[in-house]
Amino acid sequence: MIYRQVFDVINIGLVVLDKELRVCYWNRWMTKHSGIECEEIIGSPLLEFFPEIDTKHFERSMKSVFKFGSFVFMSQKLHKYLFKFSQNISGFDHMRQSVTIGPIREKDNTPSHAFIIVQDVTEMAAYERKLHDMSIKDGLTGVYNRRYLETRLKEEFDRHKRYCHALSVILFDIDHFKSVNDTYGHQFGDFVLKNVASTALETLRRNDIMARYGGEEFCCILPETTLNNAVIIAERMRMNIESKENKFHDTSAKVTVSLGVSELCEVMDTHEALLKKADEALYTAKHDGRNRVVTMTQT
Ligand code: GH3
Ligand code: MG
Ligand code: MG
Repeated sequence: MIYRQVFDVINIGLVVLDKELRVCYWNRWMTKHSGIECEEIIGSPLLEFFPEIDTKHFERSMKSVFKFGSFVFMSQKLHKYLFKFSQNISGFDHMRQSVTIGPIREKDNTPSHAFIIVQDVTEMAAYERKLHDMSIKDGLTGVYNRRYLETRLKEEFDRHKRYCHALSVILFDIDHFKSVNDTYGHQFGDFVLKNVASTALETLRRNDIMARYGGEEFCCILPETTLNNAVIIAERMRMNIESKENKFHDTSAKVTVSLGVSELCEVMDTHEALLKKADEALYTAKHDGRNRVVTMTQT
């Protein structure tokens, strides 16, 4: 087959199967990524070499190719990959693949063989993941951004309200942060912001959600948590932040935070109401002298 010279240099995988799903053609790209030489696999059933392939799904797809001449597409979003090939883009264990399977027809138009085209789309998947991360996270601190928080808070509010489960929110703000910037410079201020965010995050549990709500203000959603338990967590957070020495080059300083805590209750009909209660409590914490945890009695 003279076209082999082309098929062996293209940057995609190309496999041809007969009706018994035995390999009739295996291009060099497939050898490069599988480590299986053409001579080894030609004539053998493909599935014998790749036990990771979902046999039932694959056989059903091939049946529709041979019987009806259909085309089958496997997107990386849905299937991740067909062949389990390793690759070295961080964050991905295996090569993400976009796969197209289709018929090769005889002169009488009946499909006698099928081709499989495999494209490596790992780089694109990594880029998509990065873009998604950027759209939901804060660039400086790495915690979620306000937009994401509001979406999640609404979801959690609706869910917890429906099932009458406890849900609490902690809103906290760094005390006298302006003077930290004024005294030690904006760069040090940025460093403190990152430190405070990571200390607070360490205090939370796996299912809690934390976001940067404003400049030096953060919000935490605590699912399945009563007000009393949220206050315990907030108090731990306050102490951890207070005791942490922020060391950056030759500068070292400690900061404190004020925290407002609120719990979902029956009279609240929107997630904003829950947030508003935490904001009122935070305002009181500032007013009462800072570096403290405050809750509002529900009215
Ligand atoms: P309070 O105890 O009442 O909260 O006083 P404060 O000084 O913390 O509050 P204020 O709202 O007056 O000041 C907040 C400061 O946070 C002002 C702003 O320059 C600073 N800030 C906001 N975002 C950033 C940031 O990304 N980096 C740095 N370094 N500073 C920031
Ligand atoms: Mg502040
Ligand atoms: Mg503030």
